[in-house]
Amino acid sequence: MYLPMYIESVFISFSIIYTIERVLKMPFRKSMAEIEQERKLKLIEQRKVPLRRGKVYVIKERCKGCGFCIENCPSGVLVRSEDVNEKGYHYPVVVEDPPFKVCIACGFCSLICPEFAIYSVLVEPEEENDGRD
Ligand code: SF4
Ligand code: SF4
Repeated sequence: MYLPMYIESVFISFSIIYTIERVLKMPFRKSMAEIEQERKLKLIEQRKVPLRRGKVYVIKERCKGCGFCIENCPSGVLVRSEDVNEKGYHYPVVVEDPPFKVCIACGFCSLICPEFAIYSVLVEPEEENDGRD
């Protein structure tokens, strides 16, 4: 009568200890930074994020507001500014959403701009710190 109860209680105790141990090893014990880092690495491995990053420079005073760069940016990171330059034109500004929507330094905006008012430079991985640290 007592032996089965004893065995049952030992079994339950071991089950509880095992469950606690498993729970303590579960991923939610990781910090948010670790989880985010793993997510980014996974996306990079799956080639779902651009591996190139660019920094865009706009020479506002030269811009004539034609919008060619905005319409033709393959990453869609250029939008019209709220402000106007001294000639009264809305120049492009960069709006990124890392790690998916970023300038990839393709150089197309500088190629298409009739006023030589925009260009991008390739950012070395160690220089950037806003999407893939
Ligand atoms: S370099 Fe390419 S991706 Fe970057 S802003 Fe210009 S057109 Fe867009
Ligand atoms: S293509 Fe050149 S001139 Fe036209 S909006 Fe862009 S920066 Fe301005």
